[in-house]
Amino acid sequence: MPDYPSRGLTNQDVRMRGFANRATLEECLKWLDDQISPLAATELPLCEAADRVLAEDIICEIDVPGFRRAMMDGYAVVATDTAGATPYNRLPLDVIGHAFPGQEFKSKIEVGQCVRIMTGSPLPAGSDAVLPAEQTEVVGNRIWIQADVSPKKHVASVGEDISRGTHVFRAGRQLRPQDVGILSSIGRANVSVVRKPRVRIVVTGNELLPTGSIPTGCQITDANSPMLDALCRRDGALVHNPGIVPDDPKTIRTALHDQADVILVSGGSSVGQEDHAPVLLAEDGNLAIHGIAIRPSSPAGMGRLGQRLVFLLPGNPVSCLCAYDFFAGRAIRVLGGRERTWPYPKIRLPLSRKLVSTIGRVDYARVIIADNQVEPLAISGASVLSSTTRADGFVVIPANSEGYAPASEVDVFLYDGVRILKSETGFRADNF
Ligand code: AMP
Ligand code: MG
Repeated sequence: MPDYPSRGLTNQDVRMRGFANRATLEECLKWLDDQISPLAATELPLCEAADRVLAEDIICEIDVPGFRRAMMDGYAVVATDTAGATPYNRLPLDVIGHAFPGQEFKSKIEVGQCVRIMTGSPLPAGSDAVLPAEQTEVVGNRIWIQADVSPKKHVASVGEDISRGTHVFRAGRQLRPQDVGILSSIGRANVSVVRKPRVRIVVTGNELLPTGSIPTGCQITDANSPMLDALCRRDGALVHNPGIVPDDPKTIRTALHDQADVILVSGGSSVGQEDHAPVLLAEDGNLAIHGIAIRPSSPAGMGRLGQRLVFLLPGNPVSCLCAYDFFAGRAIRVLGGRERTWPYPKIRLPLSRKLVSTIGRVDYARVIIADNQVEPLAISGASVLSSTTRADGFVVIPANSEGYAPASEVDVFLYDGVRILKSETGFRADNF
């Protein structure tokens, strides 16, 4: 794999000297997209397969149902026997027996006869329709029918649900609960799915306390572990995070060599004295990109260490989220066979006021949606994680743009599309 041409820090220690130049977003995505393709397939029992990505095409080899099936409780009849029946012209039929689900009815229905039938039962030979029980009156071994039915009425034909030879699903489909239901209907016990990417989270920082700690003195409680854990799971990963790692090169090196498809390092990704991960990755593997023209998260990096993809995410939580979403999440989704695009719904609305940006870098601007307008959040520092919890979503401003004037229409990626539908902002489903 070639190193990225003279971008930022590659195989040399530039700590405390800053980034020489930064890779563009397009360059990063191009490098990344060249690295990623779905992992190998694995066989799973159906009850574990929902939400997983199919690694095989599914072609149905049988008809479902495999027999003519009653769709109502009532009477299996010969449709022509019912012609002309009304409440004022009731017609008699002889009841010759009872058909139950799971049992073949032994004899054949002749003209003038019917069989009491339950929903789901096979239609007796000779019958071709079901007359609902409500349209009949029972008198001894006979019913008086008050309505007519056409042939096939209330009868599911053979293969009505799925017929033999149907291409049910294509490889790449993320299975819904109803999909595993269908797979069971057509006789599958197991299904081939894309293996989940294994992700090792390496959260570094001597100042960090583990989740559940009240921060004291000059220490802070780690926000990135639970956030990254949730992001990785959202994108279909198997996560391993054994706990905070100190800013110690030996410990970080061991973590970088962990058995995983993806290593996410949080913190120490920049060019400071305690930023070890870029140097270690350059020494042991390939630091392909270091320093990206994006705000926040410009001190991010990525590369490879053997088979592992390594992402160096800045410790500032907003930068960490942003770098994850632009790069690591995309990789994890593709490795797991999912869509490379963001799982955020997009909505286009006018800005309530101007949204400024600097030429030469992409901006990730957190925004609120109010009165059907997009309002940029005033506080947007990389360390202010609450800017992302107060925001409804974000706007990506391209590198060649100085931003947008008030009333310009912008695309907002919604962190939570469903919740905003229900919020007091007045959105309705047809906004989407
Ligand atoms: P770093 O990227 O390690 O230079 O960290 C940049 C800033 O983010 C510093 O103020 C760190 O204290 C803070 N930070 C680093 N890691 C975390 C974390 N896991 N949770 C919250 N803040 C962090
Ligand atoms: Mg740090």
